[in-house]
Amino acid sequence: MSGTDIIYLDYSATTPPYPEVVRFYCERLLASYANPASTHQLGQEARKTLEQACSQMANLLDCQPREIILTSGASESINTALKSFFPAGRVWSGGLAVCAGEHAATRETAETLARNGVVVHTFGLTATGAIDLESVAAALSEKPLVISYMLVNNETGAIAPVAEIAALRNKISPRTKIHIDAVQALGRLPLSFKQSKADLMTLSGHKFGAPRGIGLLIGRKNFAITPLIAGGGQQENRRSGTENPPLAEALVLAMEKAVNSAAAESERIAGLERQLNALLFVPGSGLSPVCTATKVPHIVSIRTPGLRGETLANALSAEGIMISAGSACAARKAAASPILRAMGLTDKAAREVVRISLGRNTGANDIEVAAAALLKVYNQLSR
Ligand code: PLP
Repeated sequence: MSGTDIIYLDYSATTPPYPEVVRFYCERLLASYANPASTHQLGQEARKTLEQACSQMANLLDCQPREIILTSGASESINTALKSFFPAGRVWSGGLAVCAGEHAATRETAETLARNGVVVHTFGLTATGAIDLESVAAALSEKPLVISYMLVNNETGAIAPVAEIAALRNKISPRTKIHIDAVQALGRLPLSFKQSKADLMTLSGHKFGAPRGIGLLIGRKNFAITPLIAGGGQQENRRSGTENPPLAEALVLAMEKAVNSAAAESERIAGLERQLNALLFVPGSGLSPVCTATKVPHIVSIRTPGLRGETLANALSAEGIMISAGSACAARKAAASPILRAMGLTDKAAREVVRISLGRNTGANDIEVAAAALLKVYNQLSR
């Protein structure tokens, strides 16, 4: 099967990098190789490059350049953000509030912290896939040090009620800080760090067309980060390790492209989502949408009663159509998706779900071919 035969519908797992960004990155790797901590001329040029890249990111994200920490990806950002509230050897004056339907990076961090004695307050999802605001209020009444949630759910596409959560925080527990995992939102929704009212925000380059291996943690000025990685004290001691200015430049280029095309792309993708829904969710197909909450159009999660998502995804893969059973991270685990379980799906139902996620190279023909193949395979294999 050649690359051109493939229909890639797994953009939430990762996006193909923009070819021009990869080419630019390779050129810059060759040209700007000095260590930005070196005091010689080349090192200083590399430092300037890095600083300029952070300024450009800050402009695009509506934050200050000094608020940006470059990481290896979102998992590191989330670990750094949440663990910063609970440094070892101190008495913590509150716990952590997280959604039961979080990405594994947050859930596993919360579990690690819980094993270290941190009290974790969990809030839920409703059956529609939306964050349950009543349980957010209950979690906030425990006065946690931080509350963390995903802006766009990576499995269902549900959009979090950012303003309502901030209002609840202000009313119930004004000292609680907010961390937003905005990984699935960049390039899909307008994103402003300032307007989000978050104190911390996580992003990941490979979800918007940058090369893999770079993510961001944005932390409000004066927020004390406890570094996960100790060493040479780079990035103002918040994240040690030699920085990679060309990768930061490549990230900027991808971010510009993703942010500048977001409005037009979401309209185009909404059209593809309508097309997909009209093909799949017809009387007698047996399929139904998992998420009925306000959602982004690029993630479509589908209930496939009587057929495990994994079986369906594997059968489509053999036909050159790449989709996921739940999220890529969850797919490798034996347990049913905690996100779907948090929505109230039984263990069996949560395993009978596939996720299709669309992106910049997806066209109407891909949708037509994928929907026909999905219906065919589902009819053949479901019992
Ligand atoms: N958060 C969300 C919502 C995600 O979708 C992902 C990736 O699947 C992550 C965090 C982890 O991102 P990374 O692969 O950059 O560590």
